[in-house]
Amino acid sequence: MMPSSLPGQPHVGYRGDALFVEDVALADLAAAHGTPLYVYSRGAMLAALDAYRRGFAGRQVQICYAMKANSTLAVLQVFAQAGCGFDIVSGGELQRVLAAGGDPKKVIFSGVGKTPAEMRDALASGIGCFNVESDAELDVLNAVAVAGGWRAPVSIRVNPNVDPKTHPYISTGLKGNKFGIAHEHAVAAYRHAASLPGLEVVGIDCHIGSQITEETPYLDAMDRVLDMVEAIEAAGIRLHHIDFGGGLGIDYQGDTPPAADDLWKQLLAKIDARGFGDRQLMVEPGRSLVGNAGVCLTEVLYLKPGEQKNFCIVDAAMNDLPRPAMYQAFHAIVPLDRSRPTDDAPIYDVVGPVCESGDWIGRDRTLAVEAGDRLAVLSAGAYCMSMASNYNTRGRAAEVLVDGATAHLVRERETAADQMRAERLVG
Ligand SMILES: *Cc1c(COP(=O)(O)O)cnc(C)c1O
Repeated sequence: MMPSSLPGQPHVGYRGDALFVEDVALADLAAAHGTPLYVYSRGAMLAALDAYRRGFAGRQVQICYAMKANSTLAVLQVFAQAGCGFDIVSGGELQRVLAAGGDPKKVIFSGVGKTPAEMRDALASGIGCFNVESDAELDVLNAVAVAGGWRAPVSIRVNPNVDPKTHPYISTGLKGNKFGIAHEHAVAAYRHAASLPGLEVVGIDCHIGSQITEETPYLDAMDRVLDMVEAIEAAGIRLHHIDFGGGLGIDYQGDTPPAADDLWKQLLAKIDARGFGDRQLMVEPGRSLVGNAGVCLTEVLYLKPGEQKNFCIVDAAMNDLPRPAMYQAFHAIVPLDRSRPTDDAPIYDVVGPVCESGDWIGRDRTLAVEAGDRLAVLSAGAYCMSMASNYNTRGRAAEVLVDGATAHLVRERETAADQMRAERLVG
């Protein structure tokens, strides 16, 4: 914990006027590596993981980091070394887990559109479980497994039809979503799965959405899932594990999500009360493990005062940090050096260089800045770098992992040559 850490991010804070991640001054990193630059705190990731581990103390549990939140190899390595499993959603993500030293037996494969080739590769690697999302997928997975002489461990993703009360694009557990199998149909789907020779039913899973900041949707979803567990086992199909997905929110702007350990105390009480306390538990947290472990550093290029709005044009853009453009998401933006007086500081829209009006990073921010100053976009560890693109032929940012007073460059800045590598001119 830093002496004056920022809200929601104990590993980021000011010492005097200088912003630090753990024991490293961010201005030094920006000077050494340029901007935009992602910086992650290893300690913050491990502290977030610890909150889950405290919640599950004394239980049989497998925590599978949902790596789409941040799939940088060095980030995966932190979790692999801590003994985590991984929740993947593509064959490419499996390659990353293996490259980072993750254990394939602790990998679960989620997603509505797995291809037969991805299924084959995952079976050949010996992954722990497929979270299957439709009847048609059960049949294809069965065929792939039978053809290769495997038995695929499966869990069916059930849709508990609860409203997670989050942004519609990141809500996944409602009837109108493309995810999971409707709870009314769950027993039939399990019967079908159990009848297929290439499949071995091992569990049940659900995932209701993301950036969930209330307890109620989780408590309601658990009741529904446990109803389904009862009904499935009454049909003679034993479930070895219960996977409750991810989705726990983080504090972006005064958000107050439940702490992982408190939430799990309540959820475990429900599981125990229904007599399923002996089952292996799994969770798939993404954002809550990395979101507040990362910041994105950017430099002010130009200040552009206007009649209606003032613009603060920075060198990070929607291709680096897509959440504001995609979900109108809020990220706090603070200076790396806070010594400028803030009285009468103007209000700016902080925008990037990309040729789109949707290219904004923060709206209506009071900032005491000049061109050349550097800013940190906070809470940028999840769904930022992993969603970054090359739009406008902008190279993706470099990344640094901080561990105490040590900073490791874990991804070089992408060059234009990197981007053109796989392209061909005609003739
Ligand atoms: C995205 C996703 C997660 C992780 O969600 P977070 O909100 O980042 O915790 C977990 N499980 C599945 C199936 C997902 O698609």
